[in-house]
Amino acid sequence: MRTSRDKLFAKLKETVSDKRVVEAMLQVDRAEFVPENVRDRAYDDVALPIGAGQTISQPFMVAIMTAALGLRRSDTVLEVGTGSGYQAAIIAEIVSKVVTVERVPSLAKAAWAVLTSMGYDNIEGHLEEEIIGRPQDGPYDAILVTAAAPKLTTELITQLKDTGRMVIPVGTAESQELLRVTCSGDDYSVETLIHCRFVPLIGENAWPKSALDGWGQ
Ligand code: SAH
Repeated sequence: MRTSRDKLFAKLKETVSDKRVVEAMLQVDRAEFVPENVRDRAYDDVALPIGAGQTISQPFMVAIMTAALGLRRSDTVLEVGTGSGYQAAIIAEIVSKVVTVERVPSLAKAAWAVLTSMGYDNIEGHLEEEIIGRPQDGPYDAILVTAAAPKLTTELITQLKDTGRMVIPVGTAESQELLRVTCSGDDYSVETLIHCRFVPLIGENAWPKSALDGWGQ
């Protein structure tokens, strides 16, 4: 019988051209990152609740986002929205260093514990401070934002190197698009990749905390 894991990887192998991404996802057991009550669904291609009203992203979306970053082994990558830590682990399989920030302390602590127990020594986790992202450790080769911003903010673009790439969902609870920003010197271009659905990015230049109430209900 084909398991949900077989089905998921058949889909990923067919649709994701960057083989390093599929390889990384084969290495990292998603079941380690989800709460016990949903562990039997760890390989369903869906987002799952991880507590604090947040979710671990759908595996297909993780694959699309990671591939879209065009990663190189030597890259340093910033992830905004550690959540369960799963996406950080996938990126850490491919690049030399990942910096990941999270605003909910209980999620951050749980994620750091899992990542440490799995032996990742190239991931640095931090609690989010006033500015979205983490300028003090930048600039980064790539930034992945795993929560939806109301608009593209320069706050994050300025944390990229001048050849940097950023993948970020932008939109409302009802309608979001995954954007890819590619820097070229002081300039940048923006492409729309696909429709998507993420929890809100909270911050002064993003959504207010009150956006969490009723988001996507
Ligand atoms: N990448 C995660 C999915 C996270 S869901 C995974 O692999 O599991 C998005 C996360 O972004 C949530 O945990 C939410 O608390 C966090 N978040 C929202 N706004 C944030 C901000 N301004 N800075 C850091 N994290 C933020």
